[in-house]
Amino acid sequence: MDFEVNYDVAVIGGGIAGVAAALQAARSGKKTVLVEKTILLGGLATSGLVYIYLPLCDGNGHQVTFGICEELIRKSIQYGPGDIPETWKQGKNAREEERFRCIFSPAAFMLALDEVVQNAGIDIWFDTLVCDAVVEGTRLTGAVVENESGRGILHAKRFVDASGSSILARRAGVPCLEADNYLSIWAIEYRKDANAEGQNLGKNVAVCACGAWANGETSMSDRELQRAGLTREQLRSAPYRGISGRKVSEFVLHTRNCLREHFLTAYESGKYDRKSNYALKLPVMPQFRKISCIQGEYVLRDNEHATFFEDSVGLLADWRKPGFVWEVPYRTLYPANRLGGLLAAGRCSAAAGDAWEVTRVIPSAAMTGQVAGLAAALSIDERVEPPDLNVAHLQKELRGLGFPLHLADVGL
Ligand SMILES: Cc1cc2nc3c(=O)[nH]c(=O)nc-3n(C[C@H](O)[C@H](O)[C@H](O)COP(=O)(O)OP(=O)(O)OC[C@H]3O[C@@H](n4cnc5c(N)ncnc54)[C@H](O)[C@@H]3O)c2cc1C
Repeated sequence: MDFEVNYDVAVIGGGIAGVAAALQAARSGKKTVLVEKTILLGGLATSGLVYIYLPLCDGNGHQVTFGICEELIRKSIQYGPGDIPETWKQGKNAREEERFRCIFSPAAFMLALDEVVQNAGIDIWFDTLVCDAVVEGTRLTGAVVENESGRGILHAKRFVDASGSSILARRAGVPCLEADNYLSIWAIEYRKDANAEGQNLGKNVAVCACGAWANGETSMSDRELQRAGLTREQLRSAPYRGISGRKVSEFVLHTRNCLREHFLTAYESGKYDRKSNYALKLPVMPQFRKISCIQGEYVLRDNEHATFFEDSVGLLADWRKPGFVWEVPYRTLYPANRLGGLLAAGRCSAAAGDAWEVTRVIPSAAMTGQVAGLAAALSIDERVEPPDLNVAHLQKELRGLGFPLHLADVGL
C-alpha cells in the first residue's frame, strides 16, 4: 500500500446520497471524507444528466421530506434556471410539475454542491476509486482506494456506502439485491426551436430521452432498431444489469446507438439538420436506474406506502402517484448480516420492486443520506455498531433537524 489514512466517517460516492451523508456527518462534528471516482459531485443527478429534482410533497399540499433534502433542492437552482412552483401548497392530486419539485441545470448544481461540501469542512477525494473492502472479524474497517498517489487504505470508524451500486458492501461480502434495467438514455441537446419554458433547460437547450420504456415499448421504428444494432426483444427483456463490467459497456454503447438514431431520424424528417439539432452533453455515468442495494435487516417492498414503521427515520413522497407517502425504516440502512461499521444510503438502501422506485430518486437519496450520516456519527458517539444504535435517540435527533417520522406528523 502507498498510503494509509484515518477518518471518523468515510462516505463512498459523491452522489446526492453521499453529499447528504457527508454533510450530516461533518455537521455532527466528525472528521469526514467523501470519496468520488469522478471529479464531479451529484452522481446520476448531475453527471448522469438527470435534471428533475422530484417532489418533496405528496401532491396534496403536504411537504413530507425536509432537512438536507430541502437545502439541496434550493441549491440545485442557486446558479441556474428552474423554479419551485409557488402554488404547490394548494395542490390537490397535483401533476408532478405542480408539486414541490424543480428542474435544474446539472452543471449549475455541480457548482453549488462543491460549495456546500467545502463549506462543511469535508475532505473531498476526487478521482479516487474504491476497489476493495477490509473486513476484520465482523467489522468493516477499511476501504482500499486507488488514485494518482497509488493504492491505499482508508480506515474509518464508520463507512456509508453511497456508491449507487453498493460496491463497498458487495466487496465486503454483504448479500445484495440486483435489478434489470431497460435501455434508455437522456442527453442534453441543442434544438433550435426549444423555448425556455416547461421541461427545457433554456432557449434552444432541451433534454432528449430515447430508447425503451419500463414496459419495454419503444418509439424507435424497426429500421432504426436495426441500424442501432438492437432487437425489439432486447428492449422488452431489459437484459442489462449494472454489476457486470461487460454489461455496463454494452448498456452504454447500446444507449448511445439509440441516441445517434434520434438525431439521424430528426435529420431525415427534414425538420432539423446537424446545425439545428445536435448533442451538447452526454451522460458520463451509465444511466442504470437500479444496480444493487444491500439486503437490509428490513427490505422495503411493494405496497408498503402508508405503512407505520416503529423505527421510521423519515418520509418519502411517491413521485409517480399523488397521495402516496412512505415511511422509511432505519433497518433498511444497514445489512441483514449486521456487518459492523457499515451503513447504506440512496440507491444502496434496502428496497425491492416498486419500493425501490421510490427510494432511488434524488429526494430519497438526500433523505436516506442524511439519516445514514447522522446514524454513523451517533453510533460512534454511543460506541455501538449501526444495527445496535438506539433508534429512539436517532429519531429524537432527526426530529430536532426538522424531520417528520410518521405520516401523522404531517397530518396524514
Ligand atoms: C435515466 C434516469 C432518469 C432519472 N430521472 C430522475 C428524475 O427525473 N428525478 C429524480 O429525482 N431521479 C431520477 N433518476 C434517479 C436519480 O437520479 C438517482 O437514482 C439518484 O440521483 C441516485 O443518487 P445516489 O446518490 O444514491 O447514487 P448515484 O447518483 O449513483 O451516486 C453514486 C456516486 O458514487 C460514485 N461511485 C460509484 N462507484 C464508486 C467507486 N467504486 N469509488 C468511488 N466512487 C464511486 C459515482 O461516481 C457517483 O458519483 C433517474 C435515473 C435515471 C438512470
